[in-house]
Amino acid sequence: MSYAGPGFEPSQPPRSFVRRPLAVALAVLVLGGGGWFVWGAVADDGGGKEGSSAADDYSPLSPIGTPGIVVPSEAAAPLAGKVVVIDPGHNPGNFTHTAEINRKVNIGTGSKECDTTGTATNSGFTEAEFTLDVARRLRTVLEQLGATVKLTQDGGKTDDRAFGPCVDERARIGNAARADAVVSIHADGSSAGNRGFHVILPGVVDEGAADTRPIVASSKVLGEDVKAGFARETGSAPSNYIGGGTGLDTRTDLGGLNLSTVPKVFIECGNMRDSKDAALLTSGVWREKAAEGISEGIVSFLRGS
Ligand SMILES: [Zn+2]
Repeated sequence: MSYAGPGFEPSQPPRSFVRRPLAVALAVLVLGGGGWFVWGAVADDGGGKEGSSAADDYSPLSPIGTPGIVVPSEAAAPLAGKVVVIDPGHNPGNFTHTAEINRKVNIGTGSKECDTTGTATNSGFTEAEFTLDVARRLRTVLEQLGATVKLTQDGGKTDDRAFGPCVDERARIGNAARADAVVSIHADGSSAGNRGFHVILPGVVDEGAADTRPIVASSKVLGEDVKAGFARETGSAPSNYIGGGTGLDTRTDLGGLNLSTVPKVFIECGNMRDSKDAALLTSGVWREKAAEGISEGIVSFLRGS
């Protein structure tokens, strides 16, 4: 992609702002600013829903100090002030902590295992590795857009999560962060031939510690936005085995959704047990598209477009 939206014209540079620094700054933003770039595309798609074109929004360059040094302004950080929690499903360490993850936790409607190991492709690429990789890519994109991003676990890399966390705590991490949006990332382990992605929405639950009523509607909007962004960037089709071709499924048996008090969805990015889906899921290039697609959905949701 290249940024060449209709009507694109850099805002009027200040008098002292010579042509060369502008060109350099643009090159930096376009080549190095993947996040800004993604947002630019989204803003373009928005078609002035907020009464302004992408060109109007685009005024990220302001010279400071030494001539030639420019920095993005607020306009390049459309998610500034927003908090996004990314929940990479499972954890590579779960495989060696079976006793801990098998203990039961309360999910409002009953009790369920703390966590599971997740699935894997036939070649042994685990869902836990997949979810962490997509989550880290997504974090990078969202941070470039100015969001404050928190992962529920980072595979023990930058936290002390050797396993888990349990599903109830995964929900509470989003709640405690007062997240504006939470996305839990997974890949499915269904039969070969079952293909495609689907987004899981919280159903209405009002039982025990669970009360999803305040988040059902907003989570549906988030889910529809994530579905649209993911389909657009990856070109993947909605699941052919869940959701009747809508790419959406509603569930009331997931603690991570039941206990959430902030808008939250899961995305099952594909079926690891299908060889064609597995070929996508194991591709770093494809996972980058997946992360960008999810980020576009989050941006749409948070900008209310
Ligand atoms: Zn999973």
